[in-house]
Order: sequence, then structure tokens, then C-alpha cells
Amino acid sequence: MIVTRDDQEGTFTLFPVTQIDHGFIRTGTSLSRPGNTLYLDGRTPDGPGAQFRVRGVVIPLAGTDRDDDWQISEIVKVCRSARGGVIFVRHDVQEGKPYIVLTGAYCAKCNRKMIDPDSCRERLCVSCRAKVPVGQVLRQ
Ligand SMILES: [Zn+2]
Repeated sequence: MIVTRDDQEGTFTLFPVTQIDHGFIRTGTSLSRPGNTLYLDGRTPDGPGAQFRVRGVVIPLAGTDRDDDWQISEIVKVCRSARGGVIFVRHDVQEGKPYIVLTGAYCAKCNRKMIDPDSCRERLCVSCRAKVPVGQVLRQ
């Protein structure tokens, strides 16, 4: 899987390369709708070897190279700081090739998509967090 990130947009985009990757995209898009969560499987290690669970089906996610694997480890971090998964934003086709767009969480105040683990944990984007008065409890 080729994995790219867009910090402005707050998304990860996954482009399948291998048969397994295409299976991930097919399963992910056929079993979930925009707004659904692709949950990280409990057996996923911190290193390479991420697995997701969509309606009981386990789908592995592996990078094409070290950069992709690094982005996948970032996705795993986001999953662990969000609700245990990433949110399916949309899927589309570019030059005949399918891809899937994921985000970590939506900001509770402005609905912006976020892939920064701290923002996902607190459910507030960086700019909304900056507006929270000092001393106010964000979330219990
Ligand atoms: Zn916000």
C-alpha cells in the first residue's frame, strides 16, 4: 500500500499496490460507509503488521516501502489515541486506480478532520485547542 498524508486536510490516503492491498480497499469500502470506523485489530503490534477489523473481517495493512510503513505506524498511533480506529472518509478512483481516504477524528468544535494523535485524543484541532481558556478541563 502506498500511504500519503495531508496534514492540512487531516487525512491519510491509501493507494493499493498488491492483491492484499486491493483486498483491503475492497473490504474496507464494501463493508463500511463514510463516517464508519475501521477498527485496529487487537493483535496489531506497535511495529509493522497492522491489521484492521471491519464488521468481523480482519484486513492487513502493509506498506510498499519504509516510508509507507512509517505512515502506517502513524495511522496505528492515531487509532490508539482516537477511538481505536480511523474514520472512513471516502473512496474514489484516480486514473483508473482506486484509493481510500481516512481520518483520525473530527474536531468537536469546528468539525475539521485531524490526524495528529494529540488532537485526536482531545477531539479538538490545534486552533480550537488554542482557544480553550487556560485551566478549563477539556474532556474527562
Ligand atoms: Zn477545531
